[in-house]
Amino acid sequence: MQFWVYMLECADGSYYVGHTDSLERRIAQHHAGDVPGCYTFNRRPLTLVWSQEFPSRMEALTSERQIKGWSRAKKLALIANDWPRLSELAKGRAQAQKSLAETAGAGSPCEERGSTGSPRTDVGGMRMHDSVKDKDLEWMRHAFALAERAEREFDEIPVGAVLVDADGQVLGEGWNRNILDHDPSAHAEIVAMREAGRVSGNHRLVGTTLYVTLEPCAMCAMALVHARVARLVYGAGDPKTGACGSVFDVIADPRHNHRVEVLGGVLGDEAGRRLTNYFRAKRGRPLV
Ligand SMILES: [Zn+2]
Repeated sequence: MQFWVYMLECADGSYYVGHTDSLERRIAQHHAGDVPGCYTFNRRPLTLVWSQEFPSRMEALTSERQIKGWSRAKKLALIANDWPRLSELAKGRAQAQKSLAETAGAGSPCEERGSTGSPRTDVGGMRMHDSVKDKDLEWMRHAFALAERAEREFDEIPVGAVLVDADGQVLGEGWNRNILDHDPSAHAEIVAMREAGRVSGNHRLVGTTLYVTLEPCAMCAMALVHARVARLVYGAGDPKTGACGSVFDVIADPRHNHRVEVLGGVLGDEAGRRLTNYFRAKRGRPLV
């Protein structure tokens, strides 16, 4: 008897990994919404993006568990049959980080998870929806200005964030204030969301978009989920602590009961260069 491990891409851009002894029948069940209690039910249409045959259920199960635990970057490499990248990612964090840093320079290790149906482009082996809007660029530049203040006025790591509501009104903004406030949680995203909560008198920030110059960490990614932020747009990928696919994929975990639409790599080159130059200047090295 043969078994298959398969991966489906859902309408919201998330991935589902499963195993079966009849691939054709199981995929038809997924399409029809007939797999009881399955996560894919509300995320159709689905696309079969990868499958592999195994001689025993045990081997299929082992493979399924492994792939389920993989980062988004690794899943994307598997789908693309990009074996050099896959083995590089498997070799360990140090090398993976190096590669992701290069990818981040080209665009972003994280892709948008909206279901806009817009055309996709390949960015350094990663796929990205091609739907950056003018207003996204404008708000990202605003976030750059906030990051600059952090550096110029407070000598904090220059990360800026601004939270806007559905009408384009600013609800909160901020920059890293860890050193200034003696506060390990004072990342730019948290500062902006705190202000927005105060301004709107509500800890739920429904329908808002957060723009931030650097990929959020796990703490900030979870805060975005808790706050019910609708959309996250970030600049540079963060190969050290990024939680939108670079190191962790916290924000896209299907177990959350709220999903944040994510668009990464907006003005990513510039965002990355600004951060690189901040650290280079600190070490007295020439700027890039
Ligand atoms: Zn953070």
